[in-house]
Amino acid sequence: MFVTRKAEFSASHVCAQPDLTPEQNRAAYGPAANPNGHGHNYVLEVTLEGEPDPATGMIFDLSQLKQIINREVVEPMDHRFLNHEVPPFDRVVPTVENVAAEIWRRIEPAFEGSRARLHNVRLYETEDLYVDYAEDRA
Ligand SMILES: [Zn+2]
Repeated sequence: MFVTRKAEFSASHVCAQPDLTPEQNRAAYGPAANPNGHGHNYVLEVTLEGEPDPATGMIFDLSQLKQIINREVVEPMDHRFLNHEVPPFDRVVPTVENVAAEIWRRIEPAFEGSRARLHNVRLYETEDLYVDYAEDRA
């Protein structure tokens, strides 16, 4: 069974690689390479997988899930300039793909030892664009 919790945060970013010229970055990322940055209202969906606890009927405590998302994602990223304020985006281009992968990295350890496993991180950068990120497990 799967359970999904949604959260929103607003952040700005520049999509550019420091070792490329402004022209090369513009060719690669378009207007998103503008060094002054631009913002998005990101919508995050975190999906857990597991069997409900027979006693509680829940895969994972959903208020705890909300706290994990707030602590690891919303508080550090909301109203931030990702490139300047949120590591590793001083070194890693904060594309929606890379932000989704970083969110996975930040929240995944919180489910260790519980009935739930992190199944998917879906991150919408706009209403029309999202990525799904899930790490393979051996
Ligand atoms: Zn953007």
